[in-house]
Parts: sequence; structure tokens; C-alpha cells
Amino acid sequence: MEAVGLRMAFRLPLGAIGIMEGTGQMSKEKRPSKSRQEEAVRKFAGYLARAYYASPQELGQRIPELHPLRGKTVAVVGLGCLGAPSAIEFAKAGMKELRLVDHDLVDPATAVRWPIGFRAAGHNKAHLLHEVIRRDYPYTASQPFDLRIGRVRHPESDPESDLTAIERVLNGIDLIYDSTAELGVQHFLSDWAWPRGIAYIGLTGRLGGWGGKVFRIRPRSDNGCWLCYRWHCEQGTIPEPPSAPDDEGNVQPTGCADPTFTGAGFDMLEIALAGTRLAVSTLCEGHADAYPESEWDAIHIRLRGDDGSLVPPEYATYQITRHKECPNSHALPGQQ
Ligand SMILES: [Zn+2]
Repeated sequence: MEAVGLRMAFRLPLGAIGIMEGTGQMSKEKRPSKSRQEEAVRKFAGYLARAYYASPQELGQRIPELHPLRGKTVAVVGLGCLGAPSAIEFAKAGMKELRLVDHDLVDPATAVRWPIGFRAAGHNKAHLLHEVIRRDYPYTASQPFDLRIGRVRHPESDPESDLTAIERVLNGIDLIYDSTAELGVQHFLSDWAWPRGIAYIGLTGRLGGWGGKVFRIRPRSDNGCWLCYRWHCEQGTIPEPPSAPDDEGNVQPTGCADPTFTGAGFDMLEIALAGTRLAVSTLCEGHADAYPESEWDAIHIRLRGDDGSLVPPEYATYQITRHKECPNSHALPGQQ
């Protein structure tokens, strides 16, 4: 500890710098006597403080491949057990800005799979994560939006239309990260993103935490849309990951307004991390010395066998191609 203390003394102003023997900053003749050195240490001993370096540059040295994220904005829609840890990972990774969208309050019983426990109880998810990010990751800007997409609106007290509100939230973003696991929201947001040339990533867990899916939709000449992906999943050309039986996987605990699902937090994190990785990879495309590109659009994750037995995590990857049954025009941006 003494050695640390002495080293720290050299960071102090007021003549303490270089006063110690062996610093190499002062010639031997000019160095103060041993007694003066000891007096200086006593004098400044109460002010010793270790200096840390934490500018964006210092943080960036640890994650050099993520440098493109310093210019990117992501909307994270749905801040449950998939979206909340993903938002925190995005902030850790140095994202420029996050738009955090969720109308819901934190139910303390969800502490079993939400990144913050009982102290989050009763807070709006978006506002709470905004506070966490503002405090712990100050180089990432964030904005909370207490918005439920598809809500029933009160025109007198809330004159802004849903579409206007959504446009305001999503204006200027680089990627939509949809962790609502709601089919209607997925359909709407992916269709919103397509003509605007914005990448969309959706993710969802399977009942019981037996697996999950991450999928990327974006307007490219051979790529399918969200409906194409649904057709592929329904028809088995992209096989679904396993899911617990409905009577095991669905629950509606006392006091919970909406039915929820069973599944452990650590299993859900596997899905969130796969989604985060695909999002970061997508945002880094086209940048030099950046995180590698993903050659797939969908990842289906198996954490259990079809009978519920534990298996090592398996990641199957797929391209999302156009499906012949899909009625959408798939017009590329600028071609409508
Ligand atoms: Zn389609």
C-alpha cells in the first residue's frame, strides 16, 4: 500500500510532483533533503487520491471494434427481460444514443429476470433505465418514452396521434430493436422501417426459456420482409426452436394484468445477447476495423431438447429470403 501511496503523491500539484527520490524528474543536486521529502509526504498525505482515466478515448481503447457505435442511434422498443439488458449492453458498448420505449411499470416479481431488483419496483421501465444509463454510462445519450404502441388514446388529453408519436420517437434512428415479442408490433415496426431503409431486429423468447429467436429485416434486393419470415417459420423452412407446452409455459400470477411466461433470467439473457450482437454487427457494417459482419439474418437458439432436456446452447442461422406466398411488394426504398 505504501508504494501505491507514494506513486499517487506524484500526481499532486503544489510542488509535490517530483519531490520524491527516484522520480527521475529532478537532478540529484536539486532534490530536497530526505527530511524535506518526508515532510512533504506528511503534508500532502491527507490529499492523496488515485487518478483514473475515463474519457471516451480510454473507454474506446478496450472496445476498439465498436467505434462506429459512437455515431449510432438505436430505438429499443419493449424493455422487459430481453430489451432491458440489451439496452444496458448497448450503453456499455458506447452507443451514441438510445431511445427507450415502454409504457409499463416494473413489477417487483419480475426481479427474477430483470436487470434491476426490488429498488426498481413501481418505476416506469423506460424512465428508470434512462436514469441508470445517464448515471453509469454518461457518454450515451438516452431518451425515455412512456409509449404503448397500439394503445387506445384519449383524444382530449392526448391529442397526438399514435403515428405522430411513433415518428417522433423513431426520427433519425439507425436501427429498431424490437423486444416487445408482440406479433402486431413486430409487423408494424418492421413495415415502418422497410421503406425508410432502416434495419429492424426483432427478438423473442420461447415458453419455459427453452430457446429463442433473433431476426433481422432490412430492405435489400433478395431479402424477405417480416411476413416472409413468418411464412418460413410457419412452413418449417426455418424451423422453430423448442418451446415448453402451453400449460407449463404460460402463467398469470396474482395481481399481474397480463399473462406472462415461465423461463429463467439467465436463459433469456442468451437471447438478449444474441440480439445485441446482431444489432452491433449490423451497425458496424461498412466501417473499417470494426466488429465483424453477420452473414445471417436469423438466429434460432435451442437451450433445451424437444422433451425439455438440457442441451448445450445451439445456434442455427438462416437467411430470410422472399417467400412465394408473401403478398407484400418488397419495393426498395425510393422505388415506391
Ligand atoms: Zn415478404
